[in-house]
Amino acid sequence: MGFNIAVDGPAGAGKSTIARRAAKELSFVYVDTGAMYRAIALGLLRRHAEPEDEAALADALEGIEVNIGYEDGVQQVYLNGENVSGLIRTEEVSRMASRSSARPQVRAKLTDLQRDLAAREDVLMDGRDIGTMILPHAQLKIYLTASVRTRAQRRYKELLERGEACSLEEIERDIEARDYQDMHRETAPLRQAEDAVRIDSSDMTVDEVTERIVRLARERMEQSGGRCG
Ligand code: C5P
Repeated sequence: MGFNIAVDGPAGAGKSTIARRAAKELSFVYVDTGAMYRAIALGLLRRHAEPEDEAALADALEGIEVNIGYEDGVQQVYLNGENVSGLIRTEEVSRMASRSSARPQVRAKLTDLQRDLAAREDVLMDGRDIGTMILPHAQLKIYLTASVRTRAQRRYKELLERGEACSLEEIERDIEARDYQDMHRETAPLRQAEDAVRIDSSDMTVDEVTERIVRLARERMEQSGGRCG
């Protein structure tokens, strides 16, 4: 088994930026599980399948295959062989990912893929249920969060930089709705694992949070006698 680091937390806490950087510093493989849920969401949108419609969902999922690969160390996600990495960051896909990831059939489709990756390599995996469900024995678990206001402001800035029109209030409402959905769903709700280290990034820079995670990882690796696998 590889050395496993689980990073969970709500949308917009800076998970992917920080996780990617920490993984690079540690020479770990970075696995962004949100991208997998987003790829399934795109598949459902293309098929006009409503995730709440059990039969339509089962039918659509049969025709959906998700895989990941790496190009120059950057994770790419494939939907039925098509690289959809550039198509999954829209608000439409975000909303569908949040809705569809609440469905047990959708989660079941990705569980083995995520566990297999972690079994083979030293991974830093980010998501919502990695420390609680997917890798309960991860050697290090981080719960990364930030206030709704901070997360909305970060997202607002990002969208402005991309030249997309948006309102801060709308983003805040969207974040709150997604938090609620992720935390209150029956299957694999977002929550902090008991043995996770909680980091609130509201008043921290990306560098500070990355450094903290890298330091914690190095300490744990030393305690466990170096990397395994
Ligand atoms: O992390 P990201 O925002 O890309 O994730 C998209 C959506 O996928 C989230 O809103 C969440 O509902 C879902 N997700 C999940 N479990 C994961 C990763 C993401 O339910 N491990």
